[in-house]
Amino acid sequence: MDTKVATEIFKVFAKINPKPTTELKYKNNFELLISVILSAQATDVSVNKATKNLFKLANNPKAVLQLGLTGLKQEIRTIGLYNNKAKNIIKTCERLITQHNGRVPKDREALEQLPGVGRKTANVILNTAFSKPTIAVDTHVFRVANRTGLAKGDSPIKVEYGLLSIIPDSYLMNAHHHLILHGRYICLARKPLCYKCHIAKHCAFKEKTCEPN
Ligand code: SF4
Repeated sequence: MDTKVATEIFKVFAKINPKPTTELKYKNNFELLISVILSAQATDVSVNKATKNLFKLANNPKAVLQLGLTGLKQEIRTIGLYNNKAKNIIKTCERLITQHNGRVPKDREALEQLPGVGRKTANVILNTAFSKPTIAVDTHVFRVANRTGLAKGDSPIKVEYGLLSIIPDSYLMNAHHHLILHGRYICLARKPLCYKCHIAKHCAFKEKTCEPN
């Protein structure tokens, strides 16, 4: 895709929603980190439901360790893969305390060393908590990037680099959330709502849907 077309797409996104952000509910960087770990292969709605009570009980590493593995599992049992996620969260809390004074680190390398945190989660934290112009490629971003032609690729890392190279710097900070929200509400996986899509005229997808049914 041409950089000019990419610019037009993000101009439209910025006009519709000047301040896009995560739909995860959190009050500090630790809560955001835990929410993002929990959101792997789970919806933000399901994560928010569980963390509403969890964060009342424990919203810092020490408190989560006091809750313990069994107590943590009890709080997040409605979320998919909760057993593994609970184990990773406990190990992450231990590491935050022993290596980062209980704080969420600001750099990619340290973030990616936390159990349960891969490149995608690190990118979300760097962008949302620390205002770095990173793009986390989740299932929505991957789909939208490939369909529109913004960045084609058969792996998240190829799509991430493709997006970073084509999106103008002035739009990079919000690009991740624009693309996620577009994928979540308009460019749906099974049947994209092209007939109500504001970027349709810039999109390269050939099989656009023209009407609701
Ligand atoms: S036109 Fe359709 S395929 Fe293209 S971005 Fe919009 S919803 Fe997605």
